[in-house]
Amino acid sequence: MQLSLSLLAACCAVASLAAQSNAERIANDHYTRSHDYDLIHQKIEVSHFDWDSTSFDGRVTTTLVARRATLDSVILDAGAKLLLKRVTGTGGATLRTARSGDTLVVFFAKPIAFGDTVHFIISYHGVVENGRGLTYISPDRQPHRPRQIWSQGEDHDNHFWFPTYDFPNDKMTWEVVATVPKGMTAVSNGRLVSDVTAKDGSRTLAWLEDKPSATYLVSLVVAPLVKVHDVWRNVPVDYYVYPEDSALARPLFKITPDMIDTYSRLTGVAYPWAKYAQTTVADFFGGMENVSATTLVDWLPGPHDYQDRPWYPWILIPHELSHQWFGDYVTTENWANMWLNEGFAEFMPGQYWERTLGTHTAQDYYLDEYDQFMQIDHDRRMPLAALGSNNIYPKGALVLRMLKQYLGEKPFWASVHRYLTDHAFDNATTDDLRQAVLDATGQNLDWFWDQWIYQAGYPEFTVAAKYDSAAGTVTVLVQQTQQDSSKADSTGLRFTTPDAFRMPVTVRVGTAAGDVTARALLSRRQDTIVVGNIKFAPTMVIFDDGNTILKRLTFEQPTAWLATQLQRDPDLWN
Ligand SMILES: [Zn+2]
Repeated sequence: MQLSLSLLAACCAVASLAAQSNAERIANDHYTRSHDYDLIHQKIEVSHFDWDSTSFDGRVTTTLVARRATLDSVILDAGAKLLLKRVTGTGGATLRTARSGDTLVVFFAKPIAFGDTVHFIISYHGVVENGRGLTYISPDRQPHRPRQIWSQGEDHDNHFWFPTYDFPNDKMTWEVVATVPKGMTAVSNGRLVSDVTAKDGSRTLAWLEDKPSATYLVSLVVAPLVKVHDVWRNVPVDYYVYPEDSALARPLFKITPDMIDTYSRLTGVAYPWAKYAQTTVADFFGGMENVSATTLVDWLPGPHDYQDRPWYPWILIPHELSHQWFGDYVTTENWANMWLNEGFAEFMPGQYWERTLGTHTAQDYYLDEYDQFMQIDHDRRMPLAALGSNNIYPKGALVLRMLKQYLGEKPFWASVHRYLTDHAFDNATTDDLRQAVLDATGQNLDWFWDQWIYQAGYPEFTVAAKYDSAAGTVTVLVQQTQQDSSKADSTGLRFTTPDAFRMPVTVRVGTAAGDVTARALLSRRQDTIVVGNIKFAPTMVIFDDGNTILKRLTFEQPTAWLATQLQRDPDLWN
């Protein structure tokens, strides 16, 4: 039998991929897109917005550097509905282009060498399928719904309104220059460098984001908005809302400078952007952490909506704000590591509430995350680091909380600081976080990353405790009962659950003469922990004192023990 060479090569490629575990795929950048240039800067000029045809005029000036020996063309992402008028290079010469679907190829007048810089200008008439890249909102005679436009880039939608490299692993600086109708303003990233009103009342605002970030974070909001101004140190903190909402804005958003201050102190990285704007728009799904210019839903709670910690200030504002460090300052290199963005953004609000409202409030916060995670894991079990992982928010928050408890307060924040500063204005993968922890603490936590991030699931403990009055011991039998029933997908990838999780654990035994604790390392399907020096009958036995392990616990014990525990250690989870 004969096989063609290409077929043979294809077979081998699939076979070698199938042999890779989830951890190997992620460590080997399997999900990172390749390209042969380095995007440096884009000037994005937009004008003549038309709500009826969901269109506008665009002109994008791109600067990039060749990353190939002889670069004669570049491949950009550009929505098929963007109608090119002209593409010109240095000196105004027209450049040849080719289109295929949402891809645009620009051919240079002559090839450029590795490391050389090239500029070109793309002029186009932009048409969007409403909601892809840009969303045009018409009032429809509804109240609280002024005419407006907002962009949404994440994951791969910004190229539907401007040609760019639409993947997170190439950072650039940019300008957004928007000419908007009379009565409207434009909010974008970075600082406002000019604002000119023409005779007809139209306004041209130029925003400059002069620190590199990812292209999915380019943002534009066009709407009739008022600015409510606040400040953190010398950084403007602005809230853009409809004029009718101006009285609601400050009571809702006034917490922001204190949150910026807390996050800056915890991470040791002062808020890194020129300003922080929060802009509210209609029909938004929640919030989006566009760099220095977060977009939020226009549901502003009034004074009667604050009871029982409503979602908006409790999680939305602090979540999107923490992305300014985790996601915008350091950005996941690909979407399989997206938990680095979302896990930290979901973890940080609990840290803020712990510092402002205390430990129990923080426990309450993470208990919500725990309940969410358990439901998601029940529906479908996936690792934290995986393409399309379903648990990056709650499990990300819980695993980071666990890492903090394991390392301790100072080593944890030193690790976070290291992670942020080593990858400032750049990209990172899970392995970069592992390296940052190793560099900051000297701790090789290969087992931690493997079981909590690259593998799936959590330990399910069945625990039994027995008191031996003659020996003066409490013997705690710990069984891990989690099952791995996952199957490989069509590419051979299988999300495994560890047979036994490895974690240190503390058992606390309460007695009339005081508490006795024992610390042990769990690493097997069945472990036995003997707590000695128990001179009186136990009044309670706490397994995993301090609740340091993400787990499900079954521990049959006398009601009196539980009552003592509830009285003495009202931990919400144990
Ligand atoms: Zn987020």
